[in-house]
Amino acid sequence: MHVIWPYEDGEVGEYFYARYGHPDVTAVEDALGALDGGSAVLFPSGTGAATALVLSRLAPGGTIALAEGAYYGTSRLFETLERWGVHYVEYDQTGAPPDGVQLVWTEAPANPMLTMPDLDAASAHPAPLVVDSTVATPIGLRPLEHGADFALHSATKALGGHDDVLLGVVVCRDRAAADDLRRFRGLTGISPAAEQARLLLRSLATLEMRVGRQAATAARIAERLASHPKVATVRYPGLGCLVSFDVADGEAARRVETSTRLVTNATSLGSAGSLIESRHRWEGDRCPPGLLRLSVGLEDAEAIWADLAQALDNA
Ligand code: PLP
Repeated sequence: MHVIWPYEDGEVGEYFYARYGHPDVTAVEDALGALDGGSAVLFPSGTGAATALVLSRLAPGGTIALAEGAYYGTSRLFETLERWGVHYVEYDQTGAPPDGVQLVWTEAPANPMLTMPDLDAASAHPAPLVVDSTVATPIGLRPLEHGADFALHSATKALGGHDDVLLGVVVCRDRAAADDLRRFRGLTGISPAAEQARLLLRSLATLEMRVGRQAATAARIAERLASHPKVATVRYPGLGCLVSFDVADGEAARRVETSTRLVTNATSLGSAGSLIESRHRWEGDRCPPGLLRLSVGLEDAEAIWADLAQALDNA
């Protein structure tokens, strides 16, 4: 039986129906909680985690201060939730969040602009603080140690690392907040699949090694990009696998992303294989037309650079 467990002598046990809890989900939550130093609650995607967190914490009329330039899908989600009376305002996360909001939502670092939040200023704000640290991973940053109430990850990215899981997690500083969120998850049915949880648990065994190598390679690639004549701006915050850089314009970006061979032209980040894409296709005017987002994978650093260099010849 995978989704139900028999009662014992008529008594309901810890596990009885998988929407409310599954031992494989608990196992990966224990591992994720240990990585971030809090209590983890697993969701079927990063976006599902964000939806559950917002709907369980805010009432209609509540406002979220969202980091400008954070993952595009998060602002699209918050836009969608406006219909239920939850509002959001964007703010520059390198400074202090605005007054009069009920939740502060930062991203460390923001994807794809790669700014880092001022966590001292954000945690000094009276509203609870969320840090989406998908890009940093708990290897690069443990937000709960910097005053965050919630660390959120799309586990679809580096935590999973192999493009075979779609999952998300909220790690709560407070165990009671995690219990509330887990109750909300069971009641709303935003519950993860056990098979996906098992895959994620296996991926976590190699997380530190993968992220360490990806970050080291990303730093080398960022350095090379910075001195390349076809590259105008390079963004790399010194942690994680994500680098973004600008070529002359949208046409040049299209030529580069379609002429890589080793690096795959696809969306996502944190994968074992390197990925590149122009973000303008999704985000429009929010990001420069020539911006390319590169997620550095586990391949040999020189092989990645050689591929990028030949693609940049077409820029
Ligand atoms: N947060 C960040 C920083 C992301 O990059 C993404 C996805 O790209 C998400 C959240 C959403 O995660 P998911 O795709 O698992 O719903």
